[in-house]
Amino acid sequence: MTARIKQRDDTALRDAKARHNISDLIARHVKLRKRGVQMVGLCPFHADRTPSFEVSDTKGVYHCFGCGAAGDHVSFLMEKEGMTFRQAYEALTGDNFPEVPPEEQVRRREADAADVARRVELARSIWKGAGPLAGSIGERYVRARGIRVPLPGSIRFARTPRWYDHDTGRVGPDHPAVVCALQNGAGAVVGVQCIFLRPDGRAKYDRPPRNGKKVRAKLSFGTVAGSAIRLGPITDDIIVCEGPEDGWTLMQELPGRSVWVACGTAMMPRMEMPPGVRSITLAGDNGHAGQLAVINARTAYAAQGLGVSEIFPEPPFKDWNDQLQRIS
Ligand SMILES: [Zn+2]
Repeated sequence: MTARIKQRDDTALRDAKARHNISDLIARHVKLRKRGVQMVGLCPFHADRTPSFEVSDTKGVYHCFGCGAAGDHVSFLMEKEGMTFRQAYEALTGDNFPEVPPEEQVRRREADAADVARRVELARSIWKGAGPLAGSIGERYVRARGIRVPLPGSIRFARTPRWYDHDTGRVGPDHPAVVCALQNGAGAVVGVQCIFLRPDGRAKYDRPPRNGKKVRAKLSFGTVAGSAIRLGPITDDIIVCEGPEDGWTLMQELPGRSVWVACGTAMMPRMEMPPGVRSITLAGDNGHAGQLAVINARTAYAAQGLGVSEIFPEPPFKDWNDQLQRIS
């Protein structure tokens, strides 16, 4: 193929990719739902139990945080539908798939950007409305988990709603919550993780399931992907774990080390590490999901050129806080 034809092909392919939503192609195989500005579903390339497979229409890519499968329209058609490159190219430049007009693409991109801005603004208002943890019933929760050391300023307390309905403008009633700041790689607060508490603060918020749906005590607002709850400063080596209670425990048990917490297991491989961090110590949970999270995170951080080591609680303890409290 001469360079000229190759170049014309590249342009035609780029245009074809811009006219088609990658989610339309993928939705032929995977049930996708919206999560933030992404779509998520069960990965079609490995036996996935939690939705690890993310699809971005604005970027035109997919990525699995479980098995590492990643690519664009063409690679998906090749790998999932068994097409050759030429067949995938012809399918895309032909009229096999629904097209999205350019103005609609622009509209969706703008709507996504506005959605992100609104989420971050809400998270920042929760953060600004929160006060010190010391002396609050939030501190009572932390102490009930066996944590004796003072917690850093990235952990606050607030009485704040569990839900917001953006369509109607309705907001739920206030509940007490430990509010953890989620910072991006540049250190800006772009989200919060709230641990909602019972009125007496001695345990997490708890209520019988409604409509068969389990009620969650931990909710995140704002931008979760890439963010970390920083319990210590930027240092050479950062200890990374998957929940605040684990993080507080590690901070207490390993004084002098800097511990950062991912916003849930799926986010453990995805923290943005600022320059200055040279290696990561992954502090996993025991059990299948915990070990899988560490394997995924090891691959992701090693690919960024960071040194990676691992620590786990002693069996039979499931996580670091259980080990501290001798709960097995
Ligand atoms: Zn996968």
